[in-house]
Amino acid sequence: MAIRKIVKLPDPILKKISQPVERVDDELRDLADDMIATMYDAPGIGLAAVQIGVLRRLLVVDIAKEEEPRSPQVFINPEIIWSSEELSEYEEGCLSIPEVFDNIQRPAEVRVSYLDRDGKPHETRYDGLMATVLQHEIDHLNGILFIDYLSRLKRGTIVRKFTKQARQQRENV
Ligand SMILES: [Zn+2]
Repeated sequence: MAIRKIVKLPDPILKKISQPVERVDDELRDLADDMIATMYDAPGIGLAAVQIGVLRRLLVVDIAKEEEPRSPQVFINPEIIWSSEELSEYEEGCLSIPEVFDNIQRPAEVRVSYLDRDGKPHETRYDGLMATVLQHEIDHLNGILFIDYLSRLKRGTIVRKFTKQARQQRENV
């Protein structure tokens, strides 16, 4: 397992659409293991493949609390097939947009179809934090970031800040 570099705003790859996984094989499982290691190292509770620069429809999630045993889950080709009308609100952040947090409303419950790391299909209903994390991560596969739900003014301020930081880092190399 290797810890990969996490892609940060304003890298344009974050706005790209990820491609479906065609075969669940050892190469894909190795990629998932790297993503899990990278997520724990960050630390974060979810990571999409695009966040390490790989445009494939693959996510890893672990919402276990610090004192609980780790329980990483792999979602391949995840798709939201139903969402509730009822909304819930969580303060969201993103490993690709460090130190930015804001309250986002999303459907409180979702039903998600996906393949697990053995390629076995599932259809599962989620609520609470897991529903929010899965919607946040599936958005990544479609080039959508949580800041896209904020006002244009707020989003513009965040993007400008990260663009400026990236420019300064390039100049300092
Ligand atoms: Zn994110």
